[in-house]
Amino acid sequence: MPARGVELAVGGLVPLSAGDLPGRLSAVVFLQGCPWDCGYCHNPHLRPAGGGEPGGWERLLDFLRRRRGLLDAVVFSGGEPTLQDALPDALDAVRALGFATGLHTGGAYPERLRAVLPRLDWVGLDVKAPFDDYARACGVPGAGAKARESARLLAAGGVEHEFRTTLHPNLHSADSLLRLAADLKGLGARRWVLQEFRALGCAREDYAGARPWLPDPALRERLAAAVGSFAIRRA
Ligand code: SF4
Repeated sequence: MPARGVELAVGGLVPLSAGDLPGRLSAVVFLQGCPWDCGYCHNPHLRPAGGGEPGGWERLLDFLRRRRGLLDAVVFSGGEPTLQDALPDALDAVRALGFATGLHTGGAYPERLRAVLPRLDWVGLDVKAPFDDYARACGVPGAGAKARESARLLAAGGVEHEFRTTLHPNLHSADSLLRLAADLKGLGARRWVLQEFRALGCAREDYAGARPWLPDPALRERLAAAVGSFAIRRA
């Protein structure tokens, strides 16, 4: 079903994942297009907005019909999934097939996030840096205010979620993580996951070649105090 005549631009599919929506077996759909330019991006081929694979949404629906009873959920990832006008109808179509719905987003479009929250069972929101330092993280002026508003909507709403931050030495230090922890505490964030950077797929040499960095135990303890639930996710 093309959503109200607007084709969802599908850029890729992981047919089975146990790690993209906690506690559920999921298919992960990667949508084409993202307005940001993060140095550590490991899906740079998904950044250009475009049509995706012709007929990709129809093929995806056929695939999902055959997976009823075998999968629990469908996670829309990217790219930035909220960029696409067809996302709300796509979420409705996936729910009509009996699947739970998940979203990976950077929060670039808070009003669009607000519109799809009632259609979602879980959201993973990337928080890339302290909100006053976002332009350095994602290369776009003004991005921090949008990310902050998306984080506020999520923290204040009733949809299950996690905030996650990919750690990279070009962007993060003890000081920046403590400032981000304070930002998240101020929003009432309940769960925060720090993710180890993976060089796989990263197109920027100045990022791909850097040594991975994780906070030491003393810093972890201080960061964990900002939220109810805190974890490190290794690459
Ligand atoms: S928001 Fe995500 S998809 Fe977009 S450039 Fe950043 S890491 Fe890549």
